Amino acid sequence: MASTLIVPDCSSSTAAGAFRFIPVNKIRIRRSVFHVHQQISIARLGPKASLLNIDTRRLFSPMALTVASNAETSAKVIDGKSVAKHIREEISTEISRMKEAIGVIPGLAVVLVGDRKDSATYVRNKKKACDDVGIKSYEIRLPEDSTEQEVLKYISEFNDDPSIHGILVQLPLPRHMNEENVLNAVSIDKDVDGFHPLNIGRLAMRGREPMFVPCTPKGCIVLLHRYGVTIKGKRAVVIGRSNIVGMPAALLLQREDATVTIVHSRTKNPEEIVRQADIIISAAGQPNMVRGSWIKPGAVIIDVGINPVDDPESPRGYHLVGDVCYEEACRVASAITPVPGGVGPMTIAMLLSNTLSSAKRAHNFD
Ligand code: NAP
Repeated sequence: MASTLIVPDCSSSTAAGAFRFIPVNKIRIRRSVFHVHQQISIARLGPKASLLNIDTRRLFSPMALTVASNAETSAKVIDGKSVAKHIREEISTEISRMKEAIGVIPGLAVVLVGDRKDSATYVRNKKKACDDVGIKSYEIRLPEDSTEQEVLKYISEFNDDPSIHGILVQLPLPRHMNEENVLNAVSIDKDVDGFHPLNIGRLAMRGREPMFVPCTPKGCIVLLHRYGVTIKGKRAVVIGRSNIVGMPAALLLQREDATVTIVHSRTKNPEEIVRQADIIISAAGQPNMVRGSWIKPGAVIIDVGINPVDDPESPRGYHLVGDVCYEEACRVASAITPVPGGVGPMTIAMLLSNTLSSAKRAHNFD
C-alpha cells in the first residue's frame, strides 16, 4: 500500500481542512530542474542604502540560492532564515566594535500588556534575539486591565533613559487602550518599529528620510536586495494595505522606483492585477489565496502571510502556510520566499538592525 504525504491543498483558500492526502507514488519528483528566469537580473553592487540603514552590498550570489527540491519546482527559494542569520552575525560584530570603541551597548525596551500567548512568544523571541547579538533588552509586562496612563508612564521613562535606544510596544494592545495614543507617545528617535506617524509620513514623502522603517516591509526589501532582484522600473503589486506591512511595503517599493499597485479586500479583479507584477509582496493573511494562475512567469514573490491551517498529523494540530499557493507558484515564479523560513526571520533581524542604528545615531558612531 502506498504511504501518504500531506500537502496543502491550494484549491481551498480557507484555513479549515486545507489538506489532501496524496499517495507518494503518484507524486512526480523533478529534483534536477533548475530554471533561472530572465526576469531576475543581478543588481550592481550599490552603495550602502541609507534609508534601510543596512549594508546591501554583500549580496548573495544568485547561484548561492537554494534550489527547491520538492515536487516539480523551478523557482529559487529565497532563504530568509539564512539571510537573517547572516545579518544577525553582522549586527553582532558591529555591536562588539561599538562596545570596544565607545563603551556603548544598544538597549531595547519592550512593553507587553496582557497575557496573549502569541504576543508573549513574540516578545520572548525578540528578547532571545537581542541576547544573541549583544543588545541589552528591558521588558515591562503589564496586566490586561492596566490603564493607558500606566503604559504611557513607562514609555515616557524609556524615552528619557539614555541607555535605551529603541522602544517597542507589542501589538495588539487591549481593546480599552487607544493604540494611536500609545504609539504616538514613543519618541521618534526610539521608534524602532517605525510605526510613528512622523516616520510613516516621512517614508511617504519624496526627499524626506524616516528615522526608522517598519521591520517586516524592510525585511522584504532587504531580501530583494540581497538576492540581487532589480526593483527599479519593475511592476510591483502589494496585496494588503495594513499600517504595519502592506502600506509601508508599497511606499518602500515606490521609493525604489517600482511602479506599484495595491490590492486589498475590495479590489475587483485581483487576479488580473497580480498577473501583471514582476514583484509580488503578499500580506493579506489569506491562506493559499494567490494561485499559480495569478502569477506572471518569472515573477519574484515575497510571501509575508503566516496562516495556520488545520493539520491532524502535526503535533500542534496545525501548520503554517503563506498567502501564496507555494507548490503552484514554484512552477511559475523565478524566486519565492517559503513560509515558514522566509520573511518571518527577517522581521526580528530588522528590529535588531534598527536598534543598532538608533544607538549609533545617538552616539554619533559610524
Ligand atoms: P491585516 O492588518 O489583517 O491586513 C490584511 C490586509 O490584507 C488588509 O489590507 C486587507 O484588505 C487585505 N486583504 C484581506 N483579505 C484580502 C483578500 N481576499 N484579497 C485582497 N486583500 C485582502 O494583516 P497584517 O497585519 O498586515 O498581516 C498580514 C499577514 O502577514 C498575516 O498573515 C500576518 O500573520 C502576516 N505577518 C507576518 C509578519 C512576518 O514577520 N512574517 C509580520 C506581520 C504580519 P482591507 O484593507 O480592505 O481590509
